[in-house]
Amino acid sequence: MWQLSRPKPALPNSYFWTWDHSTNWMLDDPGMLNNGCANQYLKRPDTYVEDYRRLTDLCAGLGIRGIFIWGFIRDSHGGIENSKKVASYAASKGVRILPGFGTTCYGGAYYEGDHPYNLETFVKNHPDARMLNEDGNIEPRGACASSPEYQDWLGKSIRWLFDEFEIGGVNIENGDFWVCHDRRCNKHKETWREGDPEFFRYQAMSYGPALEAVKDLHATKDFPWATYTGFLPTKGTHDNCIPYMQCERPALVDVLPEDVLCQWTITGMVLQQSLPLTAYLDDGAPDAAFDNPNWPRDLKPPTKRSIGFAHRPSQWSAQGRYVDGVSLIKEACLRSHRAGIEGVVIHGEVTSRNIPWALNYLAFSHFIHWPEDTIRDFGRKTLGQVLHSEDEGERFVEIFAHFDAKSLTDAHKDEARKMADELWQRVSAGHDLDRWRFWHWLSNVANGRTEPQTISEF
Ligand SMILES: [Zn+2]
Repeated sequence: MWQLSRPKPALPNSYFWTWDHSTNWMLDDPGMLNNGCANQYLKRPDTYVEDYRRLTDLCAGLGIRGIFIWGFIRDSHGGIENSKKVASYAASKGVRILPGFGTTCYGGAYYEGDHPYNLETFVKNHPDARMLNEDGNIEPRGACASSPEYQDWLGKSIRWLFDEFEIGGVNIENGDFWVCHDRRCNKHKETWREGDPEFFRYQAMSYGPALEAVKDLHATKDFPWATYTGFLPTKGTHDNCIPYMQCERPALVDVLPEDVLCQWTITGMVLQQSLPLTAYLDDGAPDAAFDNPNWPRDLKPPTKRSIGFAHRPSQWSAQGRYVDGVSLIKEACLRSHRAGIEGVVIHGEVTSRNIPWALNYLAFSHFIHWPEDTIRDFGRKTLGQVLHSEDEGERFVEIFAHFDAKSLTDAHKDEARKMADELWQRVSAGHDLDRWRFWHWLSNVANGRTEPQTISEF
């Protein structure tokens, strides 16, 4: 695994976001999945430990702070014991594991299984804590934030995670836009700012008590809580990954403690069509990166401490899961840094054996440390450490940028082919292997071979 020399990061609170079931770094498990969310875990229990051991090593080598794990504890991948192994190994490498902690949905502290801190188990045993949907029906996967029993359980659940596991914090969500409509939760509206979006009010009802229960840990652990929206202050529709806050300033921003991180979804704020990579080749901050109605040049989040989560590329984006997103990663880091955001989050599910993702991970490492850098800088300072030299790193990114921009010349194509052929003559296990893999991929895609199974072993 790469061990890159890195300075102090400009975007220190940057993480990889993952679901356990589709984080595939160990490649021969029959239960691998590469789609969906909130799926069953179908792999062997020990694969869970091995997948995250490898991802942890990647983080440590690239200078990434930590990993969010949704589905952190499940009976089906070894229960508490295997989750302890995942957290402890990462802690030993200086990498923070942040379990996904669903407050009123998404499983609670113990994502799946018959355990007191599993949300469905708790709600089944405590009818007072049942969530009612808009039609007045019980939602068995949700909880009512007004229930006193629930509030007690919520605080104990989040504390239990820190008592039990060597974790670096928790990533807090509450169930996308789900809201409880029971009598108490409806009455709570009277105490709330009029016109504030319902889902933000409901977030505040559980995020507040959860954060209060770990108040003494705010300074040493990370507690990014998800808004599910971007921070563009205007109206929008209820949908996932949207840019809008649907108000001018959500009331919860002034209610939740300001010393913890707010996680904004920037997927809908960054340019929907990323700039061709050549736009950044010699310019680390081109005007075109700021010409964006969903993220005006001077727009900053309303929260004091923020991170930005980009869901692209992933299984949920139109471009698909196995593609490079280097331009988007560069833009997200640049725009976040300029907006005073402390970190960027991208997916960490696909193995770095996939070259487009290897490039994503390396670009992420580069631009969270140097968000203002050009792609040429990325080639020299980061790829130069993976390939043979700074010059070779620069040659690679120049051709890669023109491939991305669809502006390759015959000379570029020939150069990529020549490098791949030369390396093929002398590659051996443990010698020039990464180098050859990178150039082999580039030579193939530059020369029109894009069928993913042919140009990448995964
Ligand atoms: Zn309720």
